[in-house]
Amino acid sequence: MPKITEEVFYIPGQDEFMPDAHAYVLGKPSSKNLSLIDAGLTGKGNYKIQSIQKAGIELSAIKRIIMTHTHLDHIGCLAEIQKQIPWAELWMHQLEADLLEQGDERTVYGMDMFRGFCEEQFGLKPGAFKFKVNQKLKGGETLDLGDTAWEVIHIPGHSMGSIGLYHRPMKILIPGDVVYADHAIGRFDLYGADGPELKKSLMRLAELEVDILLPGHNQIVKDLPKGYILKTAKQWEPHLG
Ligand SMILES: [Zn+2]
Ligand SMILES: [Zn+2]
Repeated sequence: MPKITEEVFYIPGQDEFMPDAHAYVLGKPSSKNLSLIDAGLTGKGNYKIQSIQKAGIELSAIKRIIMTHTHLDHIGCLAEIQKQIPWAELWMHQLEADLLEQGDERTVYGMDMFRGFCEEQFGLKPGAFKFKVNQKLKGGETLDLGDTAWEVIHIPGHSMGSIGLYHRPMKILIPGDVVYADHAIGRFDLYGADGPELKKSLMRLAELEVDILLPGHNQIVKDLPKGYILKTAKQWEPHLG
């Protein structure tokens, strides 16, 4: 598992016939207060856990799992991971937390057709994604994650409760699926998505100074050109309503 900085480890998604989200482990290893950002696709729990162990990180140091959002490619293997680190808390934005606690899985699958496909493919039953959430985030918080400070930014549009995590001193942004490398952005046609909201969220992120972009899929970028997010937002603006 590649180390991005002293306080950020990267676990690449293991895409097969469906995408598996990247996961990140945040926090100074010496703090023993680490956070796993996102889980991944159904069936990828062992891969993610083994990647953490291979990096020499004690599972007991993982204190929480923070979700950038709750699409299946991010939350699919959450229950598998929770089985191996049952002490870890679950944190996510309130809007998606409230849905999951009520057993509302519309955000997880995004669309009915996909739900049918996944239930068949993975043998998932209704209720598979009912979780108790320990901390509901709103955006605007600054989290102390293992002796590093990360700002929570609510960036809806790809999903209603998407959050970004921003480490201001090192200019690191974890935007979930809101913006990727190669001027790509997250899709905005799924349940809870909204083009104009996504435009606002991109403009919000464009105000940040970002050197390292760690998205949910595809390449990570360690030397992001200045103005990259603004340029991406402008390119997509005509499609976002
Ligand atoms: Zn997504
Ligand atoms: Zn994704």
